[in-house]
Amino acid sequence: MGRSHLSPASDKKNLIIILADALRYDHVNEEITPNIMRIARKGEFYTEAWSPNTCTIKSMPYLLSASYEYDSENSLPVTLSKHGYFSCLINTNPSVKTRFSEGWGEVNDFYYEASVRSIRVHLERIINKYFLHRMRSVGKGVFNQAISSFKLAFLHASLSVRPFSGRKFPYTPADEMLKFALTKIDQQPYFLWIHLMDPHGPYYPRNKGYSKQFLDKYYNLFIDVAQKKARSRVSPEQHQVLKQLYKENVMEMDEAIGQFYDQLNNNTVLFLLSDHGEAFGEEGHYIHPANTFIPALHHVPLIIAHHGRTGINEQPMQLHSFPQFVYDVLQCTR
Ligand SMILES: [Zn+2]
Repeated sequence: MGRSHLSPASDKKNLIIILADALRYDHVNEEITPNIMRIARKGEFYTEAWSPNTCTIKSMPYLLSASYEYDSENSLPVTLSKHGYFSCLINTNPSVKTRFSEGWGEVNDFYYEASVRSIRVHLERIINKYFLHRMRSVGKGVFNQAISSFKLAFLHASLSVRPFSGRKFPYTPADEMLKFALTKIDQQPYFLWIHLMDPHGPYYPRNKGYSKQFLDKYYNLFIDVAQKKARSRVSPEQHQVLKQLYKENVMEMDEAIGQFYDQLNNNTVLFLLSDHGEAFGEEGHYIHPANTFIPALHHVPLIIAHHGRTGINEQPMQLHSFPQFVYDVLQCTR
């Protein structure tokens, strides 16, 4: 593939890609996400977009570099920087930080650094709570149990910190992420990839008045479900609560996206998509296990605004070659 002719930066529209991690296709509608639908009316709403895989780690290499493993040298940020873009990752997903932060002009992480600072404290507490308790309660297969508990303890510990406010919620919420993003639009043309985690579990809606204790209870259920052994223990009531908490997280994100959108101008192409959905019992699944190609996990929302086309687009879109799609929209020859 030959090196392309690079257009002058001034010709270029700005680009923002908002990835709403684990946002289900069927949760993007007038009832739950009126702001996202408002944006969709300024562009195209793809009704048949399908994620490359069903978890972040496996989807993102395709979304960023159209390959099975992340190829930073041929990635969206590197290619667009060759076209004069300032590329900036704004992220609150730990896997994204550790695996996909190569190639960007700037990386702003709102998850990892603060987590690391307090990880030891959390580890000690969580290991006591999970590891030792489970060692006692499980006679057979103790070794495997211990290993998996240790991994979950690590996950739990790293999820327990939210930077910025000092309160302990799992991820930095959309409103704070997007407010920060507005500080990054001076250098033009810009390409911001804003990786939001609000729909992603554990589900911690902030504005509905739930007690921390109540949410922690469902957090623990979420962790058990992640271990794939608690599925049969999710009661119909718990199932409903999990779905409701998820929906409320999505609604809070939607409001923040609406406020953010109102600050942008028409010279910014805005993509909104998710890397996979979230399961609530479909075919026996919860959360979003990898390689699980059921519609709840595989069918994703895709919206593009301010690129010159509008309407519902029913064209099937496999997102394996997402970068090329972005280049086409921006009219960047690679
Ligand atoms: Zn994800």
